[in-house]
Amino acid sequence: MAIDLGTANTLVYVGGRGIVVSEPSVVASDLDTGLVHAVGAEAERMIGRTPATIAATRPLRHGVIADFDVTEEMLRYFMRKVIDRRIAHPRMIVCAPSGVTEVEKRAVEEASLAAGARRVHLIEEPIAAAIGAGIAIEEPIGRMVVDVGGGTSEMAVISLGGIVVSRSARVGGYEMDEAITHYLRTVHHLAVGSQTAERIKIGIGSVTRQDPEVTMEVRGRHLLTGLPTAIELHSEEVRAAVASPVSEILQAIRDTLEETPPELASDIARDGILLAGGGTMIRGFAELVSGETGMPVFSAESPLTCVATGSGRALEHLDMLTSAGRGRRTRLAADWRMA
Ligand code: ADP
Ligand code: MG
Repeated sequence: MAIDLGTANTLVYVGGRGIVVSEPSVVASDLDTGLVHAVGAEAERMIGRTPATIAATRPLRHGVIADFDVTEEMLRYFMRKVIDRRIAHPRMIVCAPSGVTEVEKRAVEEASLAAGARRVHLIEEPIAAAIGAGIAIEEPIGRMVVDVGGGTSEMAVISLGGIVVSRSARVGGYEMDEAITHYLRTVHHLAVGSQTAERIKIGIGSVTRQDPEVTMEVRGRHLLTGLPTAIELHSEEVRAAVASPVSEILQAIRDTLEETPPELASDIARDGILLAGGGTMIRGFAELVSGETGMPVFSAESPLTCVATGSGRALEHLDMLTSAGRGRRTRLAADWRMA
C-alpha cells in the first residue's frame, strides 16, 4: 500500500487496484475528550460548521506533522478503509515532503507503524511525482518538478534517481484561498468561509489574463450590516488577490533554478519543468511559470494523483526487488532515495 499524505488530500494506492482512497486530510475531534468524530470527506463538511466543542482540523497543514496523535488517527482510518483483515499489517510506502526534517520523517514513520503498518519506507514527493508522471528518473538527466499542494510547494531537480537541488515553500493553494478571503473582507466587506474561497479560486481564479474575463456571484455575510449578502466578483479581482502567494511560489522556482548546476539546467531548458499538485491547476499557471523562467513547462496528466501513483509504482518496484534478493534492496534505496 502506498500513501500520499498531503496537506490537502490523502490518497491510498493499492497494488493491482490503483488509487482506492482519495479524501481530504481533515480530522474532526472533540476538544474536551480528544475523541475523533470523523475523518476525511465527512470531517471536511464540518469545517466552519462545528459546535464550540468540536474542531475540524487539517493536521498536516504545512506539510509537516503538526499534530502527531491526530495524524496517526487519520492514517489508521485510511488504512482501515482498504485493509483486508488477512493482511492486516501491510508493507507501506509513504510519500513525505522533501523539506521534512529527520524528526518529522520519524513522526510519519511512527504514525504509520502505530496505525498498523508492518514496515514503512518513505519516498520524497518530487521523486514520486516524477515517477507518477512517467518520467525516467534514473537517467543522468536533469529533471525539474514543481509540486504545489494545499499548504506547501516543493521544487526539486532530480538526476540519477536522487534530488540534486530542492526548495520547499510553506505556501500553496490554501494561501491563495486565504488571500481571496482577505480581499473580500477588506474590499467588499464580505466574510466568507474557506470553502467558499476555494470554490471561487477553482471557479474563476487565474494567474494570467483570461479571454474572456468572467464574474461569479459570491454569497457571504456583510461585515457592517451583519446580513447575508451577495456580490458580483470579477476574475481580475481574484487574480490580483492571489498574486502575492503566487509570486512567492515563483520566487522559490527561480531560486531553485539558480542553484541548479549548468548541465542539469540545460537538460531542463530542453525537456521542460513538470507541474504536479492541485495548486498548479489554477488557470494560466503553466504559462506564467514558462514566461517567468524562459523554460518549457508541462503539466502531469493527473496533477492530483501522480504522487500517489508514483509512490505505488515505487512500492511495486520495491516488492519486485526484495523478492529477488536482499542485496538489491540497498541499491534501490540508493536509486530512489528512500529512507
Ligand atoms: P496536497 O498534496 O498538499 O494534499 P493537492 O495536490 O491535493 O495538495 O492539492 C490541493 C490544492 O489544490 C488545494 O489547495 C485545492 O484548492 C487546489 N486545487 C484543486 N483543484 C484546483 C483547480 N482546478 N484550480 C485551482 N486549484 C485547485
Ligand atoms: Mg501533494
